[in-house]
Amino acid sequence: MVALTRPEARRRAESVDVDRYTIGLDLAEPGDFFTSTTTIVFTAREAETFVELLCEELLEVVLDGAAQPVEAFAGGRLPVRGLRGRHELLVRARMRYSQDGEGLHRFVDPADGGVYLCATSSVDNAKRWFACFDQPDLKARVSVRVQCPPEWTVVGNGAATRTGPGAWRLAETEPISTYLVALVAGPWHSVLGEHDGIPLGLHVRRSLAAELDRDAAELLRLTADSLDVFHELFEVRYPFGEYHQAFVPEFNWGAMENPGCVTFRDQLIFRSRPSESELLSRANTVVHEMAHMWFGDLVTMRWWDDLWLNESFAEYLARVVTPLVTGLPAGPDFAAARKSWGYAADRRATTHPVAGNGATDARAALDDFDGISYAKGASVLRQLAAYLGEDMFLGGLREHVRSHAYGNATFADLLASWSAQAGPGTPTGADLARWAHEWLRLAGVDVVTVETGPSGTVLRRHPPEFGPAADRPHAMTVTVLPGGGAPAEVVLGDAPVPVPTAGPGEIVLPSAGDETWATIRLAADQWERLPAVMAVAEDATARAVAWNALRTGLADGLVPPELAARTVAAGLPNELDVVTARLLPWITAAVPVYLAPGAERAAAITILADATWALLADAKPGGSMQLTAARGWVGLTDDLDALRGWHRGGEPLGGLTVDDELSWLVLERRAALGDLTPDQIETAYAADRTASGLVHAARCRALRPDPDAKAAAWAELIDPASTMSHYQLSALAGGIWVAGQEDLAAPYARRWFDDLPATAEFRGTMSLARLAELCFPALAVAPETLAWAERFAARTDIPSGLRRTASDGADDLRRALAVRGGAARVA
Ligand SMILES: [Zn+2]
Repeated sequence: MVALTRPEARRRAESVDVDRYTIGLDLAEPGDFFTSTTTIVFTAREAETFVELLCEELLEVVLDGAAQPVEAFAGGRLPVRGLRGRHELLVRARMRYSQDGEGLHRFVDPADGGVYLCATSSVDNAKRWFACFDQPDLKARVSVRVQCPPEWTVVGNGAATRTGPGAWRLAETEPISTYLVALVAGPWHSVLGEHDGIPLGLHVRRSLAAELDRDAAELLRLTADSLDVFHELFEVRYPFGEYHQAFVPEFNWGAMENPGCVTFRDQLIFRSRPSESELLSRANTVVHEMAHMWFGDLVTMRWWDDLWLNESFAEYLARVVTPLVTGLPAGPDFAAARKSWGYAADRRATTHPVAGNGATDARAALDDFDGISYAKGASVLRQLAAYLGEDMFLGGLREHVRSHAYGNATFADLLASWSAQAGPGTPTGADLARWAHEWLRLAGVDVVTVETGPSGTVLRRHPPEFGPAADRPHAMTVTVLPGGGAPAEVVLGDAPVPVPTAGPGEIVLPSAGDETWATIRLAADQWERLPAVMAVAEDATARAVAWNALRTGLADGLVPPELAARTVAAGLPNELDVVTARLLPWITAAVPVYLAPGAERAAAITILADATWALLADAKPGGSMQLTAARGWVGLTDDLDALRGWHRGGEPLGGLTVDDELSWLVLERRAALGDLTPDQIETAYAADRTASGLVHAARCRALRPDPDAKAAAWAELIDPASTMSHYQLSALAGGIWVAGQEDLAAPYARRWFDDLPATAEFRGTMSLARLAELCFPALAVAPETLAWAERFAARTDIPSGLRRTASDGADDLRRALAVRGGAARVA
């Protein structure tokens, strides 16, 4: 398969206008195949073009009523010749369901045998289920007809009507991009509603019906309230008719913003008790996808190099709207969950600008669905909103959505929309262009240091480790913790800025309100004070900023791992649940990376396990913090006697029931510690014969400290004939490398580089990159692994997703080697 390049897309957009697609799907046949018949009405300005199609067998091609020869074609591109003017092209093909979530994914529910289909077109997978001109700026109206088993329900972009037993018609949409065309089909359990004249629907597989029924009222309320907020914010009503949200099995993304039919991974319909962090994250996802209806779906980027126009705005708007519709602490969560992700990406050699990421083809664009395109973009937009003022910022957004509705737009168009709002006292269009260039067009993250001396304390800005130097002004507050006093407001540019000085036991914290985007470095002598400060500091946002400083300080060798562990341990009793839920998994994974197996690592883990147990013992019975602490403790402890007592259905502590998911977490930990036999794993799966149980059982098998277990997992991962879904494969991949099993997993360090390129032949782009990341030998911290990763990242004969994983893995290995070797990196 050849990925469409940007010049090809530009040329085709000049030569073709697409009017409408009529897609006919025959899904009635059981088995691995379906038939897709697509009629495309389009206008051509040149004699020849091509449509994308990936099929098992091309059955029929008819152009303007005349049958065309059915010939072999290469690279997923079906040539269409003899054109000029308006044409009608019919393409009929036999196609294969996917198992990797790309195209039309087929899932059989182990709970009851129910078959469910979900079509995902993004980024360039529409061609896997219908013939199309697959690029974002060839928008067209889409209607769909479906033949399927009579007990199924079909939902898609346009309103669905059942026209007979097993026959469905989806109404024609407004013009939309091909990557947004969606379909879900199966014996769904549905809850319908209505708000402000908009029909609403929630859909989930039958085996999760009770869980959806439990959550439906809250999800519909959240949907309704969010629609109200967006209507007011954009001053344009929701433009795509009905609003359905389908929670689908084995979904690759968190969710996908298809107009009229948003698809979510169905782990968001919680089968076990969720923590506050999970509830907040789900609400954030619901709001994020809805924001896309305007930013992404109604107005769409022209090419993937501007995908931030979709993602940064959805992320920013979710950051603004989620607290309004949930009342939950979204600010600290954004810092802990999202900004930490963005900082990690922006501090790498593979950093890229927010705007104009340079994606040359649709598949390479997939690499840039990262923390830069989401969290950094959203953070920069927050700075921009402050810089322009709310009236100018919002006015520009409204103007942009109005003037490009149902079309495509570029960054230049957006800047023009903002510039049109300029008035007395606001930045001019030229100011804005300069600002946007520095923040959005130049890659990398500045370093902000606190420096103390006899004449006082100053902040200083340093250029990024990776990326060009830029003149980015950082508008922020600076505070002294834990003492406080009013924070100072500063704008840090080229020159050092004086700030308040810390007293004994205090620290100076830049960006205390989490205003800017920078690697924050405390004064060299103040890191040691962090445990005591984090134990008492009252401002949750300031603490979240300090946690991110600790994360980067650890990676940069400025904070010894033992001090990082002590800081987390000291801060836990003073932290919000939603932040703790992010902090514990991070430090649990980080300590073994930065400390080699041995006494020091064991001591740091013990500090954390003891502190987490204390948090658990003190937590309110039945509260979310109790659950968060329990999960954290299970991941840290090696107390097998205690773990064995946490059996399914039990209540090891008042208010804490070991439900299905917590029970699997305990079993996975026991498996990793060598306390679970294959028979015990099968027994556990027999007791929880569900999609989730299937995945957990697979992970347990791979986690066992047994060379045969690792070998079996690896063999499955690289087997082109594997019948496992990508969810099961992900579980295997994530189970190979475990702290404490470095010697056992060692052979799979070299094999990562030798074996994975061949898997690109039979694996979808997204699951290829995901699996590669999960089984990357991050714990094989050795110069040899680093050398392999560097060499691999420089190869040009392998897919970009693998190269990217190797390059990012090399960054992490380099840092880990430096920290283990005791070398601090200097600002
Ligand atoms: Zn998004």
